[in-house]
Formats: sequence, C-alpha cells, structure tokens
Amino acid sequence: MRTLYIDGEWVDAHTDDGIDVVSPIDGSVLDTVPDGDATDVARAVRAARDARQELKEMTPFERAAILEEVTEYFEANEDEIAECISREEGKPLHESYDETEYVIASSEDYAHDGIRLFGDVVPSEHRDRFAYTTREPYGVAAVISPWNFPLEVPGGSIYAAIAAGNPVVFKPAEETPLTAYHITKAFAQSSLPDGAFNLVTGQGETGASLVENEDVRLIAFTGSTEVGREIGKVAAERNAQCLLEMGGKDPILVLDDADVDAAAEAIVGGSTFNAGQVCCGTERVITTPGVHDALVDAVVERTKAITLGDPFDDDTDVGPMISERIQAKAVEQVSEAIADGADLLVGGDTDGLFYEPAVLADVDPDTAIAREETFAPVTPVIAADDYDDAVRIANDSRYGLQAAVFTQDLEHAHDAANRIEAGGVFVNETDNYWERLLPFGGYKDSGAGGRYGSKWHLEAMTQTKAVMLNYGDY
Ligand code: NAD
Repeated sequence: MRTLYIDGEWVDAHTDDGIDVVSPIDGSVLDTVPDGDATDVARAVRAARDARQELKEMTPFERAAILEEVTEYFEANEDEIAECISREEGKPLHESYDETEYVIASSEDYAHDGIRLFGDVVPSEHRDRFAYTTREPYGVAAVISPWNFPLEVPGGSIYAAIAAGNPVVFKPAEETPLTAYHITKAFAQSSLPDGAFNLVTGQGETGASLVENEDVRLIAFTGSTEVGREIGKVAAERNAQCLLEMGGKDPILVLDDADVDAAAEAIVGGSTFNAGQVCCGTERVITTPGVHDALVDAVVERTKAITLGDPFDDDTDVGPMISERIQAKAVEQVSEAIADGADLLVGGDTDGLFYEPAVLADVDPDTAIAREETFAPVTPVIAADDYDDAVRIANDSRYGLQAAVFTQDLEHAHDAANRIEAGGVFVNETDNYWERLLPFGGYKDSGAGGRYGSKWHLEAMTQTKAVMLNYGDY
C-alpha cells in the first residue's frame, strides 16, 4: 500500500482501506493506494491552511523558481512518467509523451505568468489619493481531477494555484493515482514550504469531504457535469470559489465548400484520440447536404485504417478504454441509436476494454448519442438541411465546450465563430484543439467559474483587492 503526502511527509492513511489500481490493458493490479477518508482530508487541509501565510508572503519570483524545480523533475523523469500514464490510463505511449511535453512547456508559462499577475493603477476621483488593485490568493485550494489526462489536467491547476500563492490539497482520480505520485514527488523534492502541497488519494467521497471542508476556499474541479454541478451547489452554500471544467458534446460542422480530406482527418483524429475519452473530443459531426456523402466515405475509410492495440506498441493508434462502466455507456448509446434508425458503417465491436472505432450515419439529433457525452471512439454523423440548420443543431445542446467548422468561405467562418455557443471555436481544425496561451473552458453545462490555461487560469485562482492611499489632508 502506498502512503499519503501531508505537511511535507509521506504518511499512512487513517484507515487500512485501499484502492487497487487496475491496468486497463490486461486487468492486472498495478498497485494499491490509500482510500483517504474525512480524517485524512481534515489533516491535509489543516497543513495547507498552516502553510497559507508563508506561501502568500513569498515573492512571485520565489514561487516561480519552485515551479522551475518541479519542471526539472518532470524533464528528468519524463520516460518513467509517460510509461506510467500509458500503463494506468491505457493511452498509446506517443500520446502520453504529448501529455508530458505539454505539461513541461506549459509549466514554464505558469511560472512566467505568475510573476506578471499585474494589478491596475486606477485614477482616483479625489485629489491626493492613489488607488490601485492587486490580485491575491484565495487560500487553501482543492484540486480534484479526472483520469483521462492524469498529468496535464491536475498539473495545470496545481501550477496555477501555487504560482498564485494558494496551497494545494490534491485528490486525483481513483482510476489513475499512480501518475499523481510523480506529481507529488516533483513537489516533495522542491523547496516548496511543507504543507503547501498535499496528496490525498481516494474516491468520490474523499473529494466530497474536501469540498465540504470550511477551510477550502478554492475548488478546481475537472470531471463530469453531474459531479461538477453537485460540487458547485455545496461550494455556493459557503461562498467558496469554484472553477468547474466539465463534460462536452463537441461538434464539427462540415459545410459544402469544405476540404473533405482535411475535415475527415480532423474528425477521425478528434474522435479517436485517447480512445475518444477527451472532454473536447469530436462527439458530433454535422454536415450540409452537398458534402455529406463524400465526407462519410472519407471518415469511414480513415476509421478502418486505425490500429487498435497495446499502448506500448509503436503502431498502435488507439488503446483500451478506461473501464467497463465508461465502455458500457457507449455500447448502449450506439445500440439505441441503431434502434432509432442510425446506420452503423464500421466498428462498434468490443474485446475486453478495447472498442473498435465506430462511425454512425443518419443519426437522429434527438437520440442520446447526439445529445449526451459518449466518451468513446464513436463518430455520429448528423445531416443538417443547410448551414443555418447546422448551426442550430450545434447549439441545441446543454454542453458548450469546443466546436469546429470546416469551410473555405470567410463569411461562414466568422459567422460560425460568432454564433456557436462554445468556449472555443476553431476554423479548419479539429475541435479537439488546445493551445498553451489560449483559454480553455466551456459554456453552459461544460464549465463555470473561469478558464484554464496560462494567465486565465491564474485570474480564476486569485481575487482582486482594491487599495487606496490618502497622501493629502486627512
Ligand atoms: P468524475 O466526475 O466521475 O470524477 C472526477 C473526479 O471527481 C474524481 O477524482 C472523483 O473521485 C471525484 N468525485 C466524484 N464524486 C465526487 C463528489 N461528490 N465530490 C467531489 N469529488 C468527487 O469524472 P471522470 O469519470 O473521472 O472523468 C470524465 C469526465 O471528466 C468527462 O465528463 C469529461 O468530459 C470530463 N473532463 C473535462 C475536462 C475539461 O477540461 N472540461 C477535462 C477532462 C475531463
């Protein structure tokens, strides 16, 4: 059994309860981690609260220097970390390296942005007064993360929290806690003050204990919309700041004048990356009539060429899904869609947790596969009547994370970027797209409370203070 990390020490959990970490590749038990309870959470939050003042009083340059030490650890141990991600999450090794590379590069951004947390000098309405604003940390931050990007997703929030001066209690996903130990080791070997970073492994209840703890002032949650909404309610009752990044049903619109090959490439890449288990993966394809048949043929052809297999084989494009629960939802949605008249053109078979990438045409926009997150390598194609209908279908969703449009027409490109209700819209690119310096987050049921990514992330993790100095008569 592994241990927890609290107040600068590796410590046993309050109980002997453990969680087996199971390989999605072959079902073997990789390791066992503590199932932290409310006592462990309280202990970690106390340690973080006690470290709060020291972390806040450090200069942003000192905090940035610590983040650089953490990044050096990731660089020095990159191979081991990438292999750990593939082993416990199941993504192909080259995708795990994408993740480590992204974290190493973006961590430098967070360190740099942390020293540029500028305030404003505000013109005073009175004589002999000097008014300005500063940005200050909230206090103890809970970082609660999902399994699909076990390094990148918590990594960004932890970097942003520390850069901004918020001590962290980290609760990783129960499916992928082993990568979290690498993150923890990186902070443990740095000069961060004891208590400013703590790891409590556990399940949903452990996360809920953190959310309920009165001393947690900031919650950075990434995960499902259902859990995010619950967390939002509990946090609202005690006015804790909440940054919620949740599910998506992202569309790619393909218009009559699109480059069909480029669109098909983007769609298949967006649907199958990480076995489709990506919040901004391609979850819907919406076509106008003139391009529909050619696009479906091109998507099917590319999907057939995908190699499903062991994440550690060089020619593997898609590895296993994370769990039976997640796979079963996709299988059910596909069966339901077929019963409702959709045409399964390729894929859909399972072998253990391996799911053969599937393409469905003639999908009814009112079925679950067109409305609810699937989180699998499945591409449902919906035929729109025309461009306006395509935009209407795209917006007829409770989600609004990212979206894309393929067109050669400048007017449609700008119009779609303007009208589509999503946190990011990309033209002639996949919707499964992110850039280090662009904000990342969703509209509607996909996100609330701010944005991830560089300075936007730091803004969401700081509060604004107004200061006025009267240097005249008083
Ligand atoms: P999940 O919501 O089941 O779990 C996420 C985390 O929350 C886990 O650590 C879990 O233990 C914890 N948790 C569960 N119940 C809790 C509770 N009541 N209180 C506090 N914490 C609780 O999600 P998942 O299955 O791990 O991840 C998949 C989901 O994450 C998908 O919906 C996906 O779209 C979303 N996601 C979103 C983004 C984004 O940036 N928008 C990124 C990655 C994943």
